[in-house]
Amino acid sequence: MPKKKLLASISLDLDDQWSYMKVHGDKGWETFPSYLNVVVPIVLDVLDKLEVKITFFIVGQDAAIEKNHNVLKMIVERGHEVGNHSFHHESWLQSYSKEKIEDEILKAEEAIFKATGKRTVCFRGPGFSWSNDLLMVLKKRNYIFDASLLPTYISPLMRRYYFWKSTLSKEEKESRKELFGSFKEGFYPLKPFIWKFKNNEQLLEIPVTTMPVFKIPFHQSYLLYISNVSGNLMKAYLNFSILMCKITGTQPSYLLHPLDLIGKDHVPELSFFPGMNIKSDKKLKVFEKTITILKKHFQLVNMTEYAASLSPHLKKLEPERI
Ligand SMILES: [Zn+2]
Repeated sequence: MPKKKLLASISLDLDDQWSYMKVHGDKGWETFPSYLNVVVPIVLDVLDKLEVKITFFIVGQDAAIEKNHNVLKMIVERGHEVGNHSFHHESWLQSYSKEKIEDEILKAEEAIFKATGKRTVCFRGPGFSWSNDLLMVLKKRNYIFDASLLPTYISPLMRRYYFWKSTLSKEEKESRKELFGSFKEGFYPLKPFIWKFKNNEQLLEIPVTTMPVFKIPFHQSYLLYISNVSGNLMKAYLNFSILMCKITGTQPSYLLHPLDLIGKDHVPELSFFPGMNIKSDKKLKVFEKTITILKKHFQLVNMTEYAASLSPHLKKLEPERI
């Protein structure tokens, strides 16, 4: 019998045009300009072609706007899973009070339910933000897992780059000072683990996988930047990451974003974002290539399916006390 492949879960954070403008400090985001009608059909078509079903983390604010409902419904109709990506998509969610977090989760959940008919059972924080209060709210609302953590040491670097490129005021920078998390994120495990609360309740965490041992990101956006330097370098980087996953027995949680598939030819407003000079056609080709490589090595599933495969082993997973 052929050896069973390791699983890899695939998810896409459906960040909308306005959320990039908001973090960048651009005026006009308050009217929620959206590219969902353009990008979602492109993503769904290529996923059909590749025969992969994934998890889309949806921002509540987008689900609350009626004109987005058709396209959000399409995600479910085409067999994908939907998760909760907060309501306001503010990457400084760790500074929120417990009441505000509860409101954030609930409002997003309700809006996503109204738009898609599905109740969300998984969550990813905007910009990898999370807090103890957040995890407890998820537990209380019977979420199966959280997927917010990005175990890497390079978060402070990513933040510095973002501020350097932005037009944010001093006060805005202060409120975003924990954007992308801190250096300590790097010390958390790469493999799924259990958050153990003081009252002994538990919640599963499925971190976004960074390269085992080196803990540098290898999600689609990074591969895309590298492919702009050299396609072969990109393949080498991905293949090395896959090799490290296999050696360490890590089943990757692989992350996608809409801007991995569209360039400034579709959204000129986001020209400031890294990698937007790469044409949409080329992005699509890189995407097909990386998913095809991943598919060769892993069985690709959505996140809840992956979480279900872990459930017989939950007791053996490493606990982290909070
Ligand atoms: Zn996001």
